[in-house]
Amino acid sequence: MAFEGLADRLQGTLQKIRGKGKVSEADVKEMMREVRLALLEADVNFKVVKEFIKRVKERAVGQEVLQSLTPGQQVIKVVHEELKDLMGGEQSKIAVANRPPTVIMMVGLQGAGKTTTTGKLANHLRKKHNRKPLLVAADIYRPAAIQQLETIGKQLSMPVFSLGDQVSPVEIAKQAIQKAKEEHNDYVIIDTAGRLHVDEALMNELEEVKEAVKPDEIFLVVDAMTGQDAVNVAESFNNALGVSGVVLTKLDGDTRGGAALSIRSVTDTPIKFAGMGEKLDALEAFHPERMASRILG
Ligand code: GDP
Repeated sequence: MAFEGLADRLQGTLQKIRGKGKVSEADVKEMMREVRLALLEADVNFKVVKEFIKRVKERAVGQEVLQSLTPGQQVIKVVHEELKDLMGGEQSKIAVANRPPTVIMMVGLQGAGKTTTTGKLANHLRKKHNRKPLLVAADIYRPAAIQQLETIGKQLSMPVFSLGDQVSPVEIAKQAIQKAKEEHNDYVIIDTAGRLHVDEALMNELEEVKEAVKPDEIFLVVDAMTGQDAVNVAESFNNALGVSGVVLTKLDGDTRGGAALSIRSVTDTPIKFAGMGEKLDALEAFHPERMASRILG
């Protein structure tokens, strides 16, 4: 499970202070040292860790003690709240365009899980919001990406728009929106091309698609297993395109969790969904509160 190492360490550290009737400044200091190490070991960005520790210290020292909690419990509550805020406070929603269809552009590096997540998101929109999405195969470079999306469409019994791999992504996206209007699809989810690394050609092409279709949301799909790399990737995409939300995939794996805990503060972009498996129903709305509880036990 994701965060296993971090959860074990933090829970171990916090356990020592939980029952304490009195918490001295030295206790907090010692605990913060251990929390700091645990976060760094979980691959959380070092600047994020520094800020986090600073805030917890400020709040934990010299605060008024609630009657219902021991001072130890109170410090743990502060850590919990700060952990939640780090991941973005309350969970955000998906945009709805004033005039349908709502257009969502999926971007990300190859292998991050973009095509799979396109299907998962469509499934989510239909199941939870009663929507009628059209899937758009605009990844014309990765071999078999179009076919993969068509297979996903069949599995979900949902329409997939494709013009093969000889037509430009801009043209595919534009025609797809036209098609969605004709067929009364209220969401259009465009699976764009990814590459192995962030590069200028990729960004230029994505900018062209963005310019042409003016998406209501741009979701960046990043692989949580890649740790700090996921954070760097998110920063690059956000600088070039202005990403409205992140989908963190493969959180079902044994990722150390650093990406989940750093992306929001480093890129100021909310994590909206978490991929929890390969199946098309393995997508969850990202709840910082629940994630913090999972980590702290
Ligand atoms: P793309 O190149 O970004 O379109 O990536 P794909 O959608 O083809 O996904 C790459 C691989 O990651 C596939 O084998 C997917 O089944 C797998 N994958 C995607 N999301 C998840 C996830 O949340 N959990 C797990 N375990 N695997 C995932």
